[in-house]
Amino acid sequence: MDGRILRLFQSGNVQEPRILEDLKNIGVTILDTQTHFVEPDCPIISGSCDGIAVGFPEYPDESVLLEFKTSNTKGFKKIVETGIKLEKPVHYIQMNVYMHWANLKVGLYVVVCKETDEIYTEWVNYEKEVAILALDRAKAIVRSNQIPPKIVGKHGSSENSKECMFCDYKDLCYHNSIPVVNCRTCLHCECVNDKFDCARYSEDFDDTCIKTSCEYHVFNPYILNWDIADIDVENEHIIWKSPYGGIYDSSLLQSSDFEQKYQKEKEAYLDVIQLH
Ligand code: SF4
Ligand code: SF4
Repeated sequence: MDGRILRLFQSGNVQEPRILEDLKNIGVTILDTQTHFVEPDCPIISGSCDGIAVGFPEYPDESVLLEFKTSNTKGFKKIVETGIKLEKPVHYIQMNVYMHWANLKVGLYVVVCKETDEIYTEWVNYEKEVAILALDRAKAIVRSNQIPPKIVGKHGSSENSKECMFCDYKDLCYHNSIPVVNCRTCLHCECVNDKFDCARYSEDFDDTCIKTSCEYHVFNPYILNWDIADIDVENEHIIWKSPYGGIYDSSLLQSSDFEQKYQKEKEAYLDVIQLH
């Protein structure tokens, strides 16, 4: 990320102590900040809320989830006019998941306009169905052995869309890059009864499935989006055809000089396209 984006995140972070201080000044007690939650049966799904507090006059007997955001003037006005549920559904879902994890019934959404310092607050009541649906969706993605379809936003699919711009998997999703070599990307990895297993070794995997690969790693064809040119049954290899026409044995994809070779092939292909 470049400096401007990092400063933008920093601007969001500097608001948090200010808002917490404002809440204390009206008599609210902050119980916790940056509380970290982990989904019990799928620990790869986790998140941290901005805080939990008690002592709000509107909910004197409730612990309340706190979630703080910043916005530019245009976005701020839209949230004020439409409300969080319709204007910021991602924030709404995020808060419901946190309330689900923390067993809370209500949350306070605070958004600060970065340009005018205005503050908008909204109470968000816990909706169990919203949290369960989001968690089920996340688990389905985590446990899937296929790359999920690209997000289609208001203006179609684009790696520069606001949904995708911070995604770590843009290169894989949009540029046919090579996935990380580990058990999770291997053809032999399967999810059975919510547990990952290796079909070749029948070895148990932990749920996060972050393991180094073994010599029999072969990319899952639903994760490496390349054509299969041939299959070497005897050696348990797949012969891949890259999007730029190169032919690669699966063992080569794990070798250290692969990246260089693939990059050269890609550049040569793009040069030919430009010539035409
Ligand atoms: S770039 Fe990331 S967020 Fe966007 S569609 Fe692909 S995987 Fe999903
Ligand atoms: S064959 Fe090796 S790399 Fe593939 S899932 Fe099994 S242990 Fe992991």
